[in-house]
Amino acid sequence: MTTPIPATLIPGDGIGPEIVDATLSTLDALKAPFEWDRQIAGLGGVQASGDPLPQATLDSIRRTRLALKGPLETPSGGGYRSSNVRLREEFQLYANLRPARTIIPGGRFDKIDLMVVRENLEGLYIGHEHYVRIDGDPHAVGMATGINTRQGCLRVLEYAFETAIATGRKKVTLVHKANIMKVLTGLFLETGLRLYEEKYKGKFELDTIIVDACAMKLVLNPWQFDMLVTTNLFGDILSDLVAGLVGGLGMAPGANIGADAAIFEAVHGSAPDIAGKGIANPTALLLAAALMLEHVRLPEMATRLRKAIDDTLNIDKVRTGDLGGSAGTAAFTKALVSRI
Ligand code: NAD
Repeated sequence: MTTPIPATLIPGDGIGPEIVDATLSTLDALKAPFEWDRQIAGLGGVQASGDPLPQATLDSIRRTRLALKGPLETPSGGGYRSSNVRLREEFQLYANLRPARTIIPGGRFDKIDLMVVRENLEGLYIGHEHYVRIDGDPHAVGMATGINTRQGCLRVLEYAFETAIATGRKKVTLVHKANIMKVLTGLFLETGLRLYEEKYKGKFELDTIIVDACAMKLVLNPWQFDMLVTTNLFGDILSDLVAGLVGGLGMAPGANIGADAAIFEAVHGSAPDIAGKGIANPTALLLAAALMLEHVRLPEMATRLRKAIDDTLNIDKVRTGDLGGSAGTAAFTKALVSRI
């Protein structure tokens, strides 16, 4: 018998509980040995205790060092700060890994197999923002400060380069905007080029590209890329673009990796427009669970899970509405479980 692996489970907001239930049923069918500790965060945390990131949730992740998380709602503009960003900061989850692979062939973009590695803690996402009052207008000017550090750049670049080697990637493309943001993203570019020369030259090809050109080329010819590594804001945007190439947000998983903890999630949000209707696509979270299985060194289980997802979508053709199908979350999950 496999030793139980303690892991924190955060069902999350909106469609979170629905897709988490689907994922748990599938992991149970796989006999994945996770021992779940259920916790709350986001809007669920606010409603239960007034706190979007309760201490008990933090304590649980500190103990298990591993979490599967449904999407958490964040108010736009005012309100509380994103619990997702706070979790990344709290556990120093410096690398965000977002693989994108075509699962359903025949779309506009076939045979995509791309990995985006996004720096997860620095840049313009650090939240150092304020307004300046001028002539009685309290919001006359909005200001934000971005911070990148040599150490921060180095650890995510090293993670990306090591992952490229471990997963047999031939080319890594470093995405930047050092022509305009010469310091903030120039540091990332300079650190990457130096690291490659010193430690990784010849192990894979390293290319560099400006973010706007990268966005265009991803749409014109995504097959020229293999792995992208970039700073926080560009990574956030490009990984959604890449998710669009493989069928949308419902198909895109993400892993937040740090030295002491890892949190796995779908790239999409809580989808309030379809919450509670039983129609959400659980595939992104299921694929995140596959990444989690690889992380705890159960790669055969991850492969079985991915194959069952592929077969359900392509052989049985059971698909949720976002993929043009008519199955609800429960019917999709039932079909998937029968494939395990
Ligand atoms: P969203 O990703 O929730 O939804 C965008 C669109 O995609 C919606 O039309 C939605 O119905 C659809 N969609 C998303 N996931 C789907 C799925 N699994 N199946 C079928 N359709 C799906 O983005 P949003 O509406 O901008 O954000 C809603 C909330 O989620 C916000 O509060 C935001 O802050 C939060 N959010 C959380 C995370 C996270 O927890 N990692 C990520 C992104 C957004």
